[in-house]
Amino acid sequence: MLDRLRSIVQEVNAAKDLQSTLDIIVSRVRKAMGTQVCSVYLLDKELDCHVLMASEGLNKEAVGHVSLQVGEGLVGLVAKHAEPINLEDASLHPSFHYLKDTGEENFHAFLGVPIIHHRSVLGVLVVQHEDRRRFDEGEEAFLITLSAQLAGVIAHAEATGAIEGISPSGHKTFDTVFPGVSGSSGVAIGQAVVVFPHADLSKIPQRHARDIEKEIEFFKICLNSVRNDMRDLHAKMAGQVAEEERQLFDVYVRMLDDSALGNEVVERIKMGSWAQGALAYVANEHVRNFEAMNDSYLSERAIDIKDLCSRVLFYLQEKDPIETEYHDNTILVSEELTPAMLAEVPKEKLKGLISVKGSGNSHVAILARTMGIPTVMGAVDLPYSQLEGKEVILDGYKGEVITNPSELLRKRYLETIEEENQLVKGLEGLKDLPCETADKHRVHLWVNTGLMADVMQSLDQGAEGIGLFRTEVPFLLSERFPSEQEQSVIYREQLEAFAPKVVTMRTLDIGGDKSLPYFPIEEANPFLGWRGIRVTLDHPEIFTAQIRAMLRASVGLENLQIMLPMISNVNEVNSAKQLIKKAFRELLQEGIKVKYPPVGVMIELPAAVYQARTLAKMVDFISVGSNDLTQYLLAVDRNNPRVANLYTAFHPAVLSALQQVVTMAHAEGKPVSICGEMAGDPGAAVLLMAMGFDILSMNAAALLKVKSVIRSLTMEVAQDLLEQVMELDDAQMIRSAVDLALYNAGVDRLLRSSRTN
Ligand code: PEP
Ligand code: MG
Repeated sequence: MLDRLRSIVQEVNAAKDLQSTLDIIVSRVRKAMGTQVCSVYLLDKELDCHVLMASEGLNKEAVGHVSLQVGEGLVGLVAKHAEPINLEDASLHPSFHYLKDTGEENFHAFLGVPIIHHRSVLGVLVVQHEDRRRFDEGEEAFLITLSAQLAGVIAHAEATGAIEGISPSGHKTFDTVFPGVSGSSGVAIGQAVVVFPHADLSKIPQRHARDIEKEIEFFKICLNSVRNDMRDLHAKMAGQVAEEERQLFDVYVRMLDDSALGNEVVERIKMGSWAQGALAYVANEHVRNFEAMNDSYLSERAIDIKDLCSRVLFYLQEKDPIETEYHDNTILVSEELTPAMLAEVPKEKLKGLISVKGSGNSHVAILARTMGIPTVMGAVDLPYSQLEGKEVILDGYKGEVITNPSELLRKRYLETIEEENQLVKGLEGLKDLPCETADKHRVHLWVNTGLMADVMQSLDQGAEGIGLFRTEVPFLLSERFPSEQEQSVIYREQLEAFAPKVVTMRTLDIGGDKSLPYFPIEEANPFLGWRGIRVTLDHPEIFTAQIRAMLRASVGLENLQIMLPMISNVNEVNSAKQLIKKAFRELLQEGIKVKYPPVGVMIELPAAVYQARTLAKMVDFISVGSNDLTQYLLAVDRNNPRVANLYTAFHPAVLSALQQVVTMAHAEGKPVSICGEMAGDPGAAVLLMAMGFDILSMNAAALLKVKSVIRSLTMEVAQDLLEQVMELDDAQMIRSAVDLALYNAGVDRLLRSSRTN
């Protein structure tokens, strides 16, 4: 059974478009189950109907023409309850709705199962038979399993059509929404530019050729280069390998012939594709077909095709390095955005970011927030490779991407963009005003930084200190570990720019989703593995060089604080403090007049929450990393879009942990700050202030928004609100209560989370 399932899924996966996907499904399922009919009905939202999209066994003429209203017939019932219906004689069921022209009157037995993707019912898969008999348990289980596996493929095929503005049954659609999660708030309208890691055939986007003739000529040159390489290899291998193996190179050369693979690529270029896209398309088709074969020798040939085509791709990319053209309103799209991809786009042209992978608390999203660029993360169903050059609306508040925008929707979003511009202008007047409530309770707003550019922006926004300098950022942008001297220069810049204001430097926090290209960490569970302080304590030479660089950089300025990430026990704090003291003594012995800095720990793990008081005793300050704390308390990977809806710092467990940390730190007389992203959410900031956090540290782009909200409330209102939400047991209810309080205080709708568009 597993083999049958696997082979159907593989074959379906290889289909080109929605219709062939469905045709393969009905034909293969009918055969595998030995039934007389197999059909697929899909929900067409444009028509609000379930349309018979494919069938083997019913009249072919009915396909594409026959439909059922939502809720109508047995198909409607399966979809409504999202449960299978298995009947001996369908016509006897009260919901049976006879579909004229299909010829279904000849069939009695009926089994319909829902096709469900991400909790929504896409349609219904039906098998029918002449006999009056119930399908047995095994058959039902088989169809359910198959439907669950195929739902993703069908959803993808549907989405690919939707991107072109076509509904499943071929009607024109507008305003197709692809959900993701918010990475950075704000709205953008622009043209998609798809970027991708090079040398990976599966990631090449579809683009139009600028000059078809030239593209073909260029492709042939590259093809020839690979042919020559193959002949050279063939010659080199003489005497080294058996003659049959040497023959393989001849096979390779023949595969590249104009009449074989090469020709298919040329044909596709003639249809308008650029060479890389055409090559990737043809290669992926062949690879899928080979992989779907039951014969292990043939399925292995997929590897040969991949290898061969990758070689051609290498030449295509090397001989014509892609100069990506960035439009004036670029929406940068990638399967997985990286900070380096962002850095390539001229800042004034970059209007929005879309990443298929990752989630709102991935580090690239944090970077986007710092830069104030609207971002959608985790748009897992977006067929991003088809998006090149298309106009998209990006809603960074709701975390949605909208393609084929209608005039009406575009107009509404343009109004929101205008409203945002006005809001930002209006906030500028707050830069030099203190962050205090209407009844004069003072809160300190600090910033999180990573690059020098952040520092400049932060000072401009009136930041009062740096609560988190992510020192790993310069490490990530380097090609090897930066030397002590190099680090010292970078740190000095930050310290000097902010002096006399305090700069909190976190020791290197790599691992998890931050891996250095020159120090790869491969682990099954990276967020539970070798991360943060665990890495640096295992490599005291790296830790010591960093501490020495920080201390040296602070000479004469004395505004440095050192902060330790990912602390899970007291031993780590003791070991780190010993290394800091040692570095300090060494520098004194070397005649460098350093001052011993305050040392603090981050509370990012549940264990640290329970030990907050003990930890507070050992250090000078406490800072909560709510991004990781939320991840670890809720057991939700901060980087995984599938569970992004479960990731919320408004969860009552997170709020009570935060309150506990404040109480414990203050009981030891130690200041407590928060540097996770929630500090930059105006609604959350109000709760944090009421809890007693002394410092809120956030991305620079959020600073004035938070200040404006805090200034519009009294401490009494904030404390009442906190008291009220601490009684609530659900994150969504807490969010709503906070929004309501902000609404009552007259806070602008763009600063609240429950914005209505
Ligand atoms: C955090 O975890 O909240 C934090 C500030 O650290 P990072 O986001 O860099 O992991
Ligand atoms: Mg963290």
